[in-house]
Amino acid sequence: MSRERYRAAAAVLGDRAGTVVEDAVLDVEDGMIAWIGSYTDAPPYDGELTRLAGLVAPGLVNAHCHSPMTLFRGLGEGLPLDRWLQEVMWPREARLRPADVTAAMRLASAEMLRCGVTTSVEMYVYADAVAAAVHETGARAIVMAPLLAAPGWEHLGTLEEQLERAARQAAEAETDPMIEVGIGPHAAYTVPLDILGRAGELARAHDMMLHIHVAETEDEAAELEAEHGLSVPRLLAEHGVLGGRVLAAHCVWLDDADLDVWAAHDVAVAHCPQSNAKLAAGIAPLRAMLDRGIRVGLGTDGPASNNNLDLWEEIRLAAQLARLRALDAQALSAAEAFWLATGGSAAAVDRPDLGQLEPGRAADFCHVDIDDVAFIPVESPSDLLTHLVWSAGSQHVRDTWVAGRRVVADGVCLTVDEAAARAEVRERSAALAR
Ligand SMILES: [Zn+2]
Repeated sequence: MSRERYRAAAAVLGDRAGTVVEDAVLDVEDGMIAWIGSYTDAPPYDGELTRLAGLVAPGLVNAHCHSPMTLFRGLGEGLPLDRWLQEVMWPREARLRPADVTAAMRLASAEMLRCGVTTSVEMYVYADAVAAAVHETGARAIVMAPLLAAPGWEHLGTLEEQLERAARQAAEAETDPMIEVGIGPHAAYTVPLDILGRAGELARAHDMMLHIHVAETEDEAAELEAEHGLSVPRLLAEHGVLGGRVLAAHCVWLDDADLDVWAAHDVAVAHCPQSNAKLAAGIAPLRAMLDRGIRVGLGTDGPASNNNLDLWEEIRLAAQLARLRALDAQALSAAEAFWLATGGSAAAVDRPDLGQLEPGRAADFCHVDIDDVAFIPVESPSDLLTHLVWSAGSQHVRDTWVAGRRVVADGVCLTVDEAAARAEVRERSAALAR
């Protein structure tokens, strides 16, 4: 049995109440949190103790991303969506091969780990290649087997074949503690309803997560609504897509009745405020979701459009937009905003083993430097949490652990040669452009 003890100036637990423990001790046993609390209450311990000058916080959970799109970061900036897809993304993505995806995911995973993001929900082609990279970097991921038909993707097979592949991947990956496999039909406007229904069945049969984009833009569902007379959430309910572990990304354009459908079927939401703001999609009704008890986590979306994987930026923007939408500075507290990226995100991705510093959960955590102007002054422990949300960011993350294993030390990712990874992605990106 491996056993380590960490003593930090404070611990931010990532719970809904925003609890901060001063002079904190964190005990890790075999990759799990065995104990956390204040030093004066800590159980006896005779092993080696690691002192951390700053605070410890849970590893963040990125509830929605297409991380291998590090290959295409910022390309075609400013083009309208249809031209961006047709002229920039689809020609490049049609040439993608698994080795490109592994290289891009490796670099993206290192970027996230340096930001203290320890788990991500990945929706992209070549799920095996994504998983292989995450295994290398020592991060955690929930990797979606994709379902998508788009020009240039014909070599991925028909939607039927993609469904079969998803079932196979689910069966193979059942015992992997670091990689969970889900099924990721792109959206109701890109995947036919009967295939979506079968994906829902498959997900429930294997207890897999089903992850799908819903109501990102105002007009994306117009055609479906005109044809069926139902909103996308109600269509999904009617076609048997809901009822299992469903995570819906964006959900910007949902009305009260749609939110009631989500609440009734316990659908969780991956809220991506920065992507929605940059692409002028709209402001999702976050407060209304939380008030209905809908599980909500935060996602960065893909680096082709956002343009980084820094979930700390989403924390601040989620709070700002929720307040702006309500014209109420109390519409979302700092504690709630931080919880959305930690315990809230873990709940949204249906992983009660992640997201909070609590005995019995995974020892996924980061060490944040508080000897910085961003953390001055601190009059009460709760100031540490408000500074984390309102004045600090990923630049203050010094070290990161996943399952008790240190994967970032003093800002350097230990599991990836980042210079080599950058060079490889630079080269592959150039080749895909030709
Ligand atoms: Zn997305």
